[in-house]
Amino acid sequence: MKVLITGGCGFVGSHLGERLLADGHDVVALDDLSTGSLTNVESFRDHPRFRTVIDSVMNDALTGTLVDDADLVFHLAAAVGVKLIVERPVHTIETNVHGTDIVLKHAVRSRTPVFITSSSEVYGKSTHVPFREDADLVLGPTSKHRWAYACSKLIDEFLALAYWKEQSLPVIVVRLFNTVGPRQTGQYGMVLPRFVRQALAGEPITVYGDGTQSRSFTYVGDVVDALVALARTPSAVGQVFNVGNPEEISIRALAERVRDLAGSASPIISVPYEEAYEAGFEDMPRRVPDITRIQATIGFRPRVPLDEIIQRVLAFQRGV
Ligand code: UDP
Repeated sequence: MKVLITGGCGFVGSHLGERLLADGHDVVALDDLSTGSLTNVESFRDHPRFRTVIDSVMNDALTGTLVDDADLVFHLAAAVGVKLIVERPVHTIETNVHGTDIVLKHAVRSRTPVFITSSSEVYGKSTHVPFREDADLVLGPTSKHRWAYACSKLIDEFLALAYWKEQSLPVIVVRLFNTVGPRQTGQYGMVLPRFVRQALAGEPITVYGDGTQSRSFTYVGDVVDALVALARTPSAVGQVFNVGNPEEISIRALAERVRDLAGSASPIISVPYEEAYEAGFEDMPRRVPDITRIQATIGFRPRVPLDEIIQRVLAFQRGV
């Protein structure tokens, strides 16, 4: 099968591409290298069934050609990272909404099935954990730029499901929950690669707020397994799935685990949210996926526990 991965040089996209190549597929990675990097695909860049196209998903004509040529599209290209989103809200909204619009418009013409990657961020400030796919969503006001990301991903979801409803375009929507693993960069704010880098450098580990906020971290390989299995499951079409690991940890406890596993003497310090992001920044206290639906559909079960994930990220950043 010929597979197009938009954002194929990104953190998740590169792991997905590597897996699809191993499964015998032809893979084209479209990436503008805004947050992705050729280093992510270095180990398989010369594979005869792999091709990188360095351009933007916003290049309408090019994206159209690539979608036409593909049997399946994983649309991962997006503006990601809370730090980037708060700093560049216009870019975030345009990339996420317009990029998806272009991909879906071409897919419907060529009848190419599409995966849309959404985010647990869409659950916003809801406190009804674990989050179910059919739950009500609770977002903050439009003056707080963080929520632009959730809204942009929700428009993507609405648009994909609308194409499914009106034109029977086969779409699958996945909401990824804090995906982590080797190749992820802390440059755009993601907490685990930042904590690991800080611990290894002996620098202070920066816990934002009081550190009681919690997250559920999922290993990137588990996410890739889920995507591949969903792609093979006809009953998944037209549905939205949480892809995550329900194991929850507070950010302060995460900092301690990273420091311990790294054997580091880094102090753990608290940084006020206003200093880390912007005045009035709103964080979500907890974020836990309900994975009943994906379990029932593909038997999904996350395999890699948090300590093992941290060890793998440590090994990656140590260059071993
Ligand atoms: N965070 C932190 N220190 C950092 C980076 C992030 O304490 O250096 C916190 C952040 O405020 C949030 C959690 O870690 O509560 C997860 O942040 P991330 O940006 O990785 O993902 P999010 O869940 O916010 O999308």
